[in-house]
Amino acid sequence: MSAATACRDDAGATYVALSGGVGGSKLSLGLSHLLGSRLTIVVNTGDDFEHLGLHVSPDIDTTLYTLAGLVNEETGWGRRDESWNFMRAIEALGGPEWFRLGDGDLAMHVDRTRRLRAGETLNEICAKFRACLGIKPRVLPMSDDPLRTLVDTDNGVLAFQEYFVREQCRPRVRGIRFEGATKARASSMALDALAAPTLAGVIICPSNPYLSIDPVLAVPGIAEALRKCRAPVIAVSPIIAGKAVKGPTAKIMGELGLAADAATIARHYSGLIKGFVLDEEDARYEPSLGLPTLVTKTLMKTSADKIALAEACLAMCDKLRAGGDARRAKARDA
Ligand code: GDP
Repeated sequence: MSAATACRDDAGATYVALSGGVGGSKLSLGLSHLLGSRLTIVVNTGDDFEHLGLHVSPDIDTTLYTLAGLVNEETGWGRRDESWNFMRAIEALGGPEWFRLGDGDLAMHVDRTRRLRAGETLNEICAKFRACLGIKPRVLPMSDDPLRTLVDTDNGVLAFQEYFVREQCRPRVRGIRFEGATKARASSMALDALAAPTLAGVIICPSNPYLSIDPVLAVPGIAEALRKCRAPVIAVSPIIAGKAVKGPTAKIMGELGLAADAATIARHYSGLIKGFVLDEEDARYEPSLGLPTLVTKTLMKTSADKIALAEACLAMCDKLRAGGDARRAKARDA
């Protein structure tokens, strides 16, 4: 994807995306191409954890690597052209090997941890990394405070990375909770971006609603800011034809007693969103959703796919805004 930002004719309008890791960052990359510095991405940190004494922020790093063009395209996470000397050395010492850390990736965790110990916040550190990597959109950890996603399974309560990486999402999920949610303070820059008079749309990326977006919404103030904001909030379905493109979203939905389909995702966000984007393969759900919808191709394999879906999302925001303005004008004139 070219580094140049394609121009939209709404110069000055700003947008916010809410995102997890792999699925979210694909759409964020498309949005970044169209909006550049007019985009703010608020990213889940419920997956953050301490490993080998280091603070690891998986979704933040996936977002940074994707936007910087450094991501391993095959896995969707980690760096491409990575070397694994550290991993080989720690395995030889009998150290933990379940969480793979490439050498370049390790540098991020070492430097993040060093800066945290020196008193910098996650948001300050992320801003520095973003500048060093030449990324135009703002990438904001949802909070500087610890909020940890815990997965209640038939193997007991597991920290997110234990469930996701160590156990490979095998245990049956009974529930999900967010430890520290009541005390976590939202990133002030995220709240400012959601309250900005220039805000023209909020896009909930096709991330796992339960493990990636709900932790963001659990941070006090964020869901309220979304409900209050005048710009339309839309969501893109991460489920296509009853399946997740990657990861455990559909499996978890089944285990939680939910139908794994786009309609369930739309219902999950009801009260929060003004529009919903679903895949062409799921067009049959459209009439039953009871809110404005856009049916389009949502599978993002190529750069062109990511930009096309981003364009479609921005066009939907434009349309919803125009409808809202017309309704407000009619109410004023009545
Ligand atoms: P994680 O934190 O790395 O698990 O990533 P996310 O939560 O951001 O994304 C996981 C979700 O992204 C899964 O539910 C996937 O189905 C969804 N996803 C991945 N790629 C695509 C895609 O190309 N299109 C759509 N619609 N969803 C996708």
